[in-house]
Amino acid sequence: MSEVNAEFEKVKCLIIGSGPAGYTAAIYAARADLKPVVYQGLQPGGQLTSTTEIDNFPGYPNGVKGPELMMDIQKQAERFGSDLRWGIINEVDFSERPFKVVTDDGKKILADTVIIATGATARYLGLESEKRYKGSGVSACATCDGFFYRGLDVAVVGGGDTAAEEATYLANMTRKVYMIVRRDELRATKAMQHKIATTPNIEVLWNHVTREILGDGKVVTGALLENVKTGAKKQIDIQGYFVAIGHTPNTDVFKGQINLDENGYIKTIPGTTQTNVPGVFAAGDVQDHVFRQAITAAGTGCMAAIEADRFLMRGND
Ligand code: FAD
Ligand code: NAP
Repeated sequence: MSEVNAEFEKVKCLIIGSGPAGYTAAIYAARADLKPVVYQGLQPGGQLTSTTEIDNFPGYPNGVKGPELMMDIQKQAERFGSDLRWGIINEVDFSERPFKVVTDDGKKILADTVIIATGATARYLGLESEKRYKGSGVSACATCDGFFYRGLDVAVVGGGDTAAEEATYLANMTRKVYMIVRRDELRATKAMQHKIATTPNIEVLWNHVTREILGDGKVVTGALLENVKTGAKKQIDIQGYFVAIGHTPNTDVFKGQINLDENGYIKTIPGTTQTNVPGVFAAGDVQDHVFRQAITAAGTGCMAAIEADRFLMRGND
């Protein structure tokens, strides 16, 4: 990265990402007079802009559409003077303070504190039919969408802890859960394997992969599976298809700059949003592979802004 010179814009608090974590951090940072600058990235408003009803975010007794919720939080951040900008952060240098950051159009920034809120992206199978029915039967979040399938039959694809958790969560409210597993064993922990084996309305379809998600043009009605050992095809009738094959945290740009765990999530000190670099904080899904909810992202966004403010008040020690 080039030398510090007049080309650099100086900011007290730079927020990377504009989902519930980034925008909530912006509300708190702006109210603390940190004059936050927010880079919104490729998806202004974050993951919730790609979904319809949100029924579990407090304050909306009748539910709210994802894009509307994010627009409300954005306006709240702007009301207190947050500077929201189009653009992606492409390069960071956290080796010394102030931190150096470069955007995709080459703009250079010097930041006293940085809040990383770049989220995580659910992995999908890549089938054309999966894309067609995303939001109309295909989901990557049982906690978010399971409620819509009460009393119905659903499938969960994946064999890790996430898939096992999604399957047991769904088993509580649906009639039947098929768990589609591509090998003859689960990757999930022994405790979760036991839970799967002892939940009566979960049926594991071992050695199966999904060839196509079936539907009537509007909603999901089934899935066409193939046994990878025998080649036999099987059709299941389902109304919901939950993809649980892992998430990818959006941390490529931070590799080598802060500590990440073995799955690429940012490591924070438990109970805080502090990373291993003093002055760099992380909030939301980018540091949370367990809860991954809008409200938890917003909560840690709040924590990050408060911690950034206290860090600056202490005089960057
Ligand atoms: P995200 O919302 O993922 O936002 C990340 C932000 O970072 C984006 O703005 C992106 O543009 C930006 N970004 C990434 N890289 C860069 C970069 N290099 N430079 C600048 N910006 C960058 N949760 C619920 O609580 N209830 C629900 O009903 C619900 N439904 C969901 C439905 C769907 C289809 C999906 C996908 C998720 C759902 N979730 C739901 C989960 C919820 O969306 C996430 O937990 C939440 O959005 C995480 O917020 P975040 O701020 O951490 O990150
Ligand atoms: P994961 O452990 O990487 O498991 C992904 C699963 O999806 C694997 O079973 C994998 O199959 C399967 N898969 C991947 N691509 C697939 C494809 N294209 N088609 C079909 N199946 C596919 O991911 P995760 O379950 O999200 O867990 C991530 C990390 O978070 C893990 O360390 C996990 O322990 C942790 N986690 C912990 C908890 C908890 O402690 N409560 C909860 C959730 C997650 P293979 O096994 O054949 O590779």
